[in-house]
Amino acid sequence: MLKGNLTCAIVNQLLTFFVEDNMDKRYRDMVSTHLRNCPMCMERYTVVKKLYNEAERKRKLIKKQEMMQEEISEYLDGEMSEKDIVHFEQKLSTTPQYEEALIATMKLKRLLNNSFYKVKYNLSTDLTDGTIEKLKNSAGFFMKFKNLFSHLFQR
Ligand SMILES: [Zn+2]
Repeated sequence: MLKGNLTCAIVNQLLTFFVEDNMDKRYRDMVSTHLRNCPMCMERYTVVKKLYNEAERKRKLIKKQEMMQEEISEYLDGEMSEKDIVHFEQKLSTTPQYEEALIATMKLKRLLNNSFYKVKYNLSTDLTDGTIEKLKNSAGFFMKFKNLFSHLFQR
């Protein structure tokens, strides 16, 4: 159907650009006119718009969580300025998600520390031939893949 000087097929192709508001005003108006007059395209638009909004909402949520995790790491690792610490601690007391994420991160850090010290402790108390053999083996393993990991040591 030709409405607003556009066929349904063309409107269909332009729909994502329209939803993203990534379109010339002239075309935008043409699509708008078509949508107002074509129930079928309007229905399709409603579905696409809903999916787009949902994806946007998720994207923003993930972005927010990433930023929060970054802040928490800076805070725990002592890499935060005094001014940001005040801000951060304010957020901690007003936003439950921050508090939950902070506690989860601290638990994880504690677990990692524990297993690190445990391995270190086991090695120092159990320097048997077996342990030394294991160390040699892992060193051999490492040497084999040295080139693969070399980028990690270029600082
Ligand atoms: Zn149409």
